[in-house]
Amino acid sequence: DLIVLVREIFELLEQQAARRGTHLELFPPSLPETGLLVVADRNRIRQVLINLIDNAIKYGRDKGRVVVSLVESGRSVRIAVRDDGAGIAPEHQGRIFERFYRIDKSRSRESGGSGLGLAISKHIVEAHKSTIKVKSTVGEGTTLEFKLNKPKSGAVGSAA
Ligand code: ATP
Ligand code: MG
Repeated sequence: DLIVLVREIFELLEQQAARRGTHLELFPPSLPETGLLVVADRNRIRQVLINLIDNAIKYGRDKGRVVVSLVESGRSVRIAVRDDGAGIAPEHQGRIFERFYRIDKSRSRESGGSGLGLAISKHIVEAHKSTIKVKSTVGEGTTLEFKLNKPKSGAVGSAA
């Protein structure tokens, strides 16, 4: 259940977000408390979402917003993590998924991390037969997104 998972991760990262004054939000606001099922390895997807949200807090701006949107489209759910930070220049966008690749070494070192999070996340998303994509505009912010499949109707736990 993606809604339950994201709410759990918001709780886990609550203090880290509070230190930067970052507001964590779920979108759309009409989402229920629970009940958006996908077929996935829960712990692995948890790891992906923790990394994406951790990045959005670390590389987002102070007192910024981090929005996790969960939008159904056909047989899948699009999961996007957006921040309103400094953004990633086009020449770096293709490289952030490489192991140990970090854009601003000094600034990145300050915020900890080893440059492995996105490499691992890409690997996990691809193991789910999906693709992780980055969209970013310098000065505006960054969105990382991927899709996961909903259960086929009739499957255990399906809403249908
Ligand atoms: P780790 O995830 O291993 O703790 P990390 O966060 O530095 O370390 P990645 O998650 O792989 O490593 O991210 C790689 C680099 O991409 C980061 O160091 C940062 O320079 C850049 N990056 C990632 N997410 C964002 C973002 N939301 N906004 C701006 N830059 C980002
Ligand atoms: Mg990271």
